[in-house]
Amino acid sequence: MRIEPGRDRFSPYDWLDSPISQFPKKRAKKMKVKDQRSAVGSLAAFVVLVGMVLCAAAQSFLNPYEGVDWQTTGHYDANFHTHTRLSDGRFTPHEVIDRYKELGYSILALTDHDSHHFRARPKTLYPWTEINAIYEQLKNERRSRGGGTWAEEEGSEWQDRDPAELGMVAIEGSEISNTHHIGSYFNDYAGGTGSEEVAFKEIVDRNGLAVFFHPGRYDRSVDWYVDFYEKNDHLIGMEVYNQNDRYPGDRAIWDRVLHRLMPERPVWGFANDDMHSNNHLGRNRNVMLLPELNAAAVRTAMENGHSYFYVASQLGAKPAIKITDVKVAADSIALSIEGDVTDIQWITHNPAEDDSVVVGDGAVIDMADVPEDAVFVRAVVICADGRAYTQPFGIRR
Ligand SMILES: [Zn+2]
Ligand SMILES: [Zn+2]
Repeated sequence: MRIEPGRDRFSPYDWLDSPISQFPKKRAKKMKVKDQRSAVGSLAAFVVLVGMVLCAAAQSFLNPYEGVDWQTTGHYDANFHTHTRLSDGRFTPHEVIDRYKELGYSILALTDHDSHHFRARPKTLYPWTEINAIYEQLKNERRSRGGGTWAEEEGSEWQDRDPAELGMVAIEGSEISNTHHIGSYFNDYAGGTGSEEVAFKEIVDRNGLAVFFHPGRYDRSVDWYVDFYEKNDHLIGMEVYNQNDRYPGDRAIWDRVLHRLMPERPVWGFANDDMHSNNHLGRNRNVMLLPELNAAAVRTAMENGHSYFYVASQLGAKPAIKITDVKVAADSIALSIEGDVTDIQWITHNPAEDDSVVVGDGAVIDMADVPEDAVFVRAVVICADGRAYTQPFGIRR
């Protein structure tokens, strides 16, 4: 194991340099009862008391992990953004599957660029038991402009894999690539459109799910994202770690969007390898919290935010932290973690700075620590070998 040189070297939050104290703390909970002149008699006092209780109860955290039974849930590693030689990946589809299996992943989506190949016959690489049949369809076609056929360029045939035999779940997918890149799942759309609107329509018509990939690559406004999230319920998330951390601005964009949409409309975070070659392999993991390992359970977890994600500090390192419990009370959130944790940071968006900011420290966050204008918090659990990120908790006031 080694630390990669240069850009890929694991760098902690460059974007979280600002001191915690910059963000105005929420004012102490003073619940003044207005117009007390009329509050006479026991009934009025009772009404005031009930009002105070309701006021306190109304200020609470919304838990993305509601419904997760932490005693029994399985933790299954997933990569939802992977390339093969069908587009610009280095490895054949079966090699990619085998490598993720070796690294302990249970869930994999092969998401080749829809813009690259198969233009005449758009197709996802699915099911895995038909990979060879897909290759047979392709092998006499010209692979690239001025190049040879697929058979000439590939040299060897692509092989089928049986996910059940491997103990894995295969998720059908594609990377819509002539638009802002979009991960498309649970459907066969790979149509090469240049319009995000068309892509989302095609995906919803096929009962699929979608995720915006690597937003840090682009220069889109927060309004632009918010509009798509508001109009598309099947657009469930945003990839906020890509290929280790190729676009470090991803999380700040996520937080800006969350600040606009939470608590009503969560946007779940994903960390994917965007694997094209060896040096992208197994760095990022989505840890899916599932009652059982099957595609329907994966979909439910993706829709509901029943996951956290992990980014390893070194290539090939297995996760060194496990989130084992999340307890959400009326005014606090407490995490239980397995592993040698060095720090836990709680993050929200600071509208004054238009940036992400740390507002708390440690396994428990209390409502009193959260700024008054925050509409979400999320946690980052840090150890020497990597970082685990919770989904955002909404704040209802
Ligand atoms: Zn992409
Ligand atoms: Zn990609």
